[in-house]
Amino acid sequence: MMLIGLLGGMSPESTGIYYRAMNMAMRDVLGQQHSARILMHSVDFEPIRQLQHEGKWGECARILVEAARSLKAGGASFLVLATNTMHKLAEEIEEGSGLALLHIADPTGEAIQRAGYRKVGLLATRFTMEERFYRHRLEQRFGLEIALPDEDERTDIHRIIYEELCVGRIEQTSAARFRQVIDHMKWAGCEAVILGCTEIAMLVDGGTSPLPAFDTAVLHARAAVALSLQGERLGLGR
Ligand code: GLU
Repeated sequence: MMLIGLLGGMSPESTGIYYRAMNMAMRDVLGQQHSARILMHSVDFEPIRQLQHEGKWGECARILVEAARSLKAGGASFLVLATNTMHKLAEEIEEGSGLALLHIADPTGEAIQRAGYRKVGLLATRFTMEERFYRHRLEQRFGLEIALPDEDERTDIHRIIYEELCVGRIEQTSAARFRQVIDHMKWAGCEAVILGCTEIAMLVDGGTSPLPAFDTAVLHARAAVALSLQGERLGLGR
């Protein structure tokens, strides 16, 4: 299997989910006590969070390119950027590090397409919901119609992600707010919802969501395992 380069820490709460999901997926496929070959670089999230909110994306890119380069130097075959939001910088990171990036929107779009849904709601940070980099890829490549929550709902979602989920706080009132937002999307005609921030499944998942939910963290982690195995079969590296 190829060595997965995991660029994590955004936040560490969801990087743990990736780590577990990758190892479980590898064991599911190969059996016995097989586990994923992973090289991880986990950043300090606080400076990143501050830079994002100050709009200093160039500075974020500099930090992440450097981290990705260290993964390449350590022998990683490809890059898994364990956050939706920082895919805003996917091209810069890929180019700056020379490491091919497995884009988080792609396994998400494929899974939704396979399930036969077309109009889907997007729950994510304000950056991911409101800017084009993420929605555009899902619309263009997978023919999806992406619906967003209302302004006050987006404000609550963004706040809950950064103030609670990224530091491991699970509040029942926040879980209820997420369910309310998803319910609203259901009445607006959405057929499913994208958990477009890698921490959201800590709060609401397929069992509690009023709509079928697509968890980007787990879909991305499983796709990384599939690529790691497929790449080796194709002789692309170890
Ligand atoms: N993990 C989150 C995401 O998937 C948010 C944290 C970040 O800003 O990277 O978007």
